[in-house]
Amino acid sequence: MLVQQPIPIQTLSHPILEEKAIQLDVLRLDKVHSEVSGNKFFKLKYNLEEAGKQEKRRILTFGGAFSNHIYATAFAAFSAGLSSIGIIRGEDADLNNPTLRHAKKMGMVLQVVDRESYRNKDSPEFLEKLKAQFGQFYLIPEGGTNEFAIYGTKEILNNSHSEYSHICVSIGTGGTFAGLASSLKSHQTLVGFSSLKGDFIKSEIENLLSKFGIKPEGKLEIQTGFHFGGYGKHKPDLIDFMLWFYKEFKIPLDPIYTGKMVFGVWDLIEKDHFPSGSKILLIHTGGLQGNAGFAEKAGIELPTL
Ligand SMILES: *Cc1c(COP(=O)(O)O)cnc(C)c1O
Repeated sequence: MLVQQPIPIQTLSHPILEEKAIQLDVLRLDKVHSEVSGNKFFKLKYNLEEAGKQEKRRILTFGGAFSNHIYATAFAAFSAGLSSIGIIRGEDADLNNPTLRHAKKMGMVLQVVDRESYRNKDSPEFLEKLKAQFGQFYLIPEGGTNEFAIYGTKEILNNSHSEYSHICVSIGTGGTFAGLASSLKSHQTLVGFSSLKGDFIKSEIENLLSKFGIKPEGKLEIQTGFHFGGYGKHKPDLIDFMLWFYKEFKIPLDPIYTGKMVFGVWDLIEKDHFPSGSKILLIHTGGLQGNAGFAEKAGIELPTL
C-alpha cells in the first residue's frame, strides 16, 4: 500500500518577500513518496482502496506519453499487487521514454491509441472495446480526477495550515483544486494557476464543484494568464525563472505545472496582488519525474530531487 512520508514545509526567504511583508512557504508534496509523488499520491490513495473493495484486480487509466498520472498509477497499482493498463495518447508516443519505461517496469501494459480515439475515450463504445480486450477493470479517468481523488486531495490541507491566508496550486483537470477547496477555511483564498490556455477551465471547475457537492468556505480565484502558450508548452522566461528559483531556494520545479504556478505567484507578489501581511502556502504538486523526459524532448536539463 501507499505509505506517506511526513510532508515538509519550507519557508522561503528573499528581500522582495521582506519588502512586501509576505510569508511564502512551500508544502513539499513532491516529497510525500519516492515514486507516487505530489498530488497524484492523494488522488490515487482512495481509488486503490475502492478497487480493492470492488475486488478488481486490474486498473485501467489514460494519459499522455509523459504523464505524471501514468507514472504514479503504474507504481501504485504494482505496490497494491494489482495489474495495470495504460492507454496512451498519440501513435507517435515513444514507449521507451523515461516515463513509459518506468511504467512498463512496474508491469503496466501500454497501448497507444490515435488522438481521435483518445478524444472519445470516455464514450461507452470505446470502453466496451477495452472491456472486450482486457476483461473487467477498475477505471481511473485521465488525470485521476473522480470522487475518490476528491476524498484524497481533501486531506492535503488540515488544521495545521489554518495560519495561511492564501493557498496556491497548479490546475490541470482541477481535481486537486476542488479537493483543496473543500477543506478551505473561511478566512482563506485558494488561488489556482491554470497550466492550460483558455477560460474554459473556470466553468470546468464550477462543474467539478457542483458535481461533487463542494461549497467552499473560503474564496476561490483562478489565474489563467500563466500558461506560457498552453498545456505542455514553455518559453525561455519560464525556464530561466525555474533555474533561478532552484538556485535561490534549492526547490526543483517541473515545466508543465509547478513552474508555471510558482512563476505566477512570484509575478503577482511583485505586482502587489497579495496584501502585505499575507501568509501564502504554495502546494508543490510534484511532477519532477517528467523532467527526465523533458530533457530528452526539449534538450533542456532541469534540476530534480
Ligand atoms: C497532475 C498534476 C497537476 C494537476 O492536477 P489536477 O488535479 O489535474 O488539476 C498539477 N501538478 C502536477 C505536478 C501534476 O502532476
